[in-house]
Amino acid sequence: MKISLIAEFAVILIRKSFYQLGLPISRMDASPRLVQPKRDISRLEDYLEAIYNLNTEKGFVSAADISDKLGVKPPTVSSMIANLAKKGYLEHEKYRGMRLTASGEKVAKSVIKRHQVISELITMLGVDDQTAYVDTEGIEHHVHPTTLRRFERLADYLRENPQTLKAIREFVEEK
Ligand code: MN
Repeated sequence: MKISLIAEFAVILIRKSFYQLGLPISRMDASPRLVQPKRDISRLEDYLEAIYNLNTEKGFVSAADISDKLGVKPPTVSSMIANLAKKGYLEHEKYRGMRLTASGEKVAKSVIKRHQVISELITMLGVDDQTAYVDTEGIEHHVHPTTLRRFERLADYLRENPQTLKAIREFVEEK
């Protein structure tokens, strides 16, 4: 049980690093596809999301934590932290970690909201957790607010109407 959890986690990390490098993840997937390299704004959102989540989980965020969470090398993390501080998204105190400013927190909460909605909807359709996670990490940066709102309303509807969800799921799942 414990070993399979570790293995699953490793697969998630590998997929995530493939994804961030913009490498084809066809070997990891049933259906081959190419993933585009991440835009700067997507990367910025990933950092703010990770910092917010780490702070919630641990109450403290170090560069090493971010490096682990995003699967990015420490020097890259350091330069991104400096960049985020320069843009006013976070305050960084040596030996005391970092914390998001109000504007950093606003962006982080927006990404996390998008993540939750997209993840719930994809999972509802019976997509496995790892695929749902990787896809959510991609889609969350690109979804239009109107589309997100519709996704959210659809997820609400399906949650409140389990019979409909069951019928949809049976229809979409390949047997
Ligand atoms: Mn996310």
